[in-house]
Amino acid sequence: MTSSRSELIATALRRGLRKRCPHCGEGRLFSGWSFLHSCPVCGLVYARNPGDTWAFTIFGDRLPLGAMIAIIYFGVVRSHPALGVSMLVALAALAIWTTPNRWGVGIALHYLSRVYWPDPADPVPPPRATGSSS
Ligand SMILES: [Zn+2]
Repeated sequence: MTSSRSELIATALRRGLRKRCPHCGEGRLFSGWSFLHSCPVCGLVYARNPGDTWAFTIFGDRLPLGAMIAIIYFGVVRSHPALGVSMLVALAALAIWTTPNRWGVGIALHYLSRVYWPDPADPVPPPRATGSSS
C-alpha cells in the first residue's frame, strides 16, 4: 500500500515537472505561456478555484527561492559584490526559465491532495486503464 502510494506521488510529480496532466500524463498543462483550465485528454480540472494551487506554489516555490536569495545576498554579495550579483542574476534566469515546470509541480501537489482527501464537489476523473502509455 505504501509503495503504490509513493509511486503515485512520484508519478504525479514527474508528470507535473514535464508539464503534463498529473492524472493521465498525456494532456498538457500549458498552451504556450497560458495555463489550461482542464486536461484535454482525461478532463481533469487542474484548479477548480484560481487560488487552489497558491499554497503549494508558495511553500514549494517562493519560500525556497526566497531562502536562496537571502543566502546569496548575505553570504556572497556583502563580501564579493560582483560574484554575488552574477549569482542573483543566474538564479533569476533559472527561476524564470523553470517557472512552467515549477507550476506543474504545484498542480501535481494540488492533484495529490485531491486524491488523498477527496471532495465530492471536486471529482477527480476515474483512473485510466493500465497498459496504456504513461
Ligand atoms: Zn489528463
